[in-house]
Amino acid sequence: MIPTIDHSSSALVDENEKNEVMENLEPLAAKPSSPRPKKKSRTEKEKAEIIPEPEFTTVDHIPLTTHTDSFGSDPIPVSWSHPDPLIRGPVICTVRHSAQRNAIGAHQGSYCIYTGLAVAAGKLDPDYVPDLRLTSPVFKIGPYPSWSDPKKISALDPFGHLTTTAYKDYLDKGWDIRPTIAVTKAHIDLPECREAVATGRLKADGKILLPSGQSICSKAAIEPVWYLPEIARRFQTTESNLRRSIFRMTNGMYPELITRPDIKIFLPPIGGLTIYIWGDPETIPDEDIELTCRVHDECNGSDVFGSDICTCRPYLTHAIEECIRTAQNGGCGIVIYFRKEGRSLGEVTKYLVYNTRKRQEGGDSAETYFNCTEQVAGVQDTRFQALMPDPLHFLGVTKIHNFISMSDMKYNAIVNSGIKIVNRIEIPPDMVPEDAQVEITAKVFHGYNAGKAYQGIDANTLKETKGRDFGYNKE
Ligand SMILES: [Zn+2]
Repeated sequence: MIPTIDHSSSALVDENEKNEVMENLEPLAAKPSSPRPKKKSRTEKEKAEIIPEPEFTTVDHIPLTTHTDSFGSDPIPVSWSHPDPLIRGPVICTVRHSAQRNAIGAHQGSYCIYTGLAVAAGKLDPDYVPDLRLTSPVFKIGPYPSWSDPKKISALDPFGHLTTTAYKDYLDKGWDIRPTIAVTKAHIDLPECREAVATGRLKADGKILLPSGQSICSKAAIEPVWYLPEIARRFQTTESNLRRSIFRMTNGMYPELITRPDIKIFLPPIGGLTIYIWGDPETIPDEDIELTCRVHDECNGSDVFGSDICTCRPYLTHAIEECIRTAQNGGCGIVIYFRKEGRSLGEVTKYLVYNTRKRQEGGDSAETYFNCTEQVAGVQDTRFQALMPDPLHFLGVTKIHNFISMSDMKYNAIVNSGIKIVNRIEIPPDMVPEDAQVEITAKVFHGYNAGKAYQGIDANTLKETKGRDFGYNKE
């Protein structure tokens, strides 16, 4: 028998109850300075009523999910978007509690397979429960009202970094609950920032930017956690069609997508994202304090190895400089780095497209830039920005003063999710690498927000803009 789970959305949550819960979460609340009446915390008896006893799966037992009563037969109830983490319920996706699991998939995104390898190689005890005692966030994020709005957050777990506090009582009872978000700090050292200090583009302040060119930032790594009904809504399809399509296109990797429509949470085996913040993260929700932001999709070839066929790394480092500048002026700068390599088609597809671009009749041309991807992959782009704004809402963003991007898809997704954008900043033309003229010209011609710097690109420019000829056809 399939058990019932409460999937009530925030619309069903009483407003007063919501406010009360947000206050109960202090000292994690957004603005601790604002005076609020002290709420009494839950008694041990109340907690015992909410938190069930864990059931443990034995190592040797392999529960096939096609057998009834094996996977999620007694799932911990989840009420997605409820502002109280205990009522919302923890996301249980560990192998230790297979009967009580309330999520499909596995932790660690695409790295979950390596965990299987580690067990196969005898390097990891499959019963090992992580020691999370020293892992809690080193700075505070939320809670924010956006956390209880599924239209704003359904692609990550907003309590994913608060496992050791919000679900402490579960951990104390022996539950194996894994954080899906980790929050830490870093010093980062980029040659572009060193150059910016050396040439005077940026001035070291000793706090955010050191004379060496190193900058000091806060960061958070996030694994995707999808609430399937809302993911389907954002893709303008039905939940059952979404489940069927993923099942089919992964060769049936997740049968529970089909067999367990009552389990609404999916940890997909895809790359996650990293948030980098310069300045004080607590200023982010304040619309009067300047906020600079770039949402960057991974491009390993350019970002790390400096390939000149695209504008990715220069645009990224330009954004980092602008973030540092904003932080130095008392504001905050955010870069969100998504693992969406090659427009989420992957690096193999990307290089196949490069070869097609260079080999096609007439060579690499701005005119055929978008067609080549479609010719190889059947689709121009699978990044689908509909889920992209969630980490912004996780941070409490409601207004971006400087948006460092020319992409209309990104701009529209953010604005349609309820965040205001004031200025849109294009990449300075002198930062566009030689072989990337094809990309920038094609994008500007096809309606990317180009600003004043790229005016005058017409059909003729499109025709005339050619990329480097490697002579592949002569080999
Ligand atoms: Zn690139």
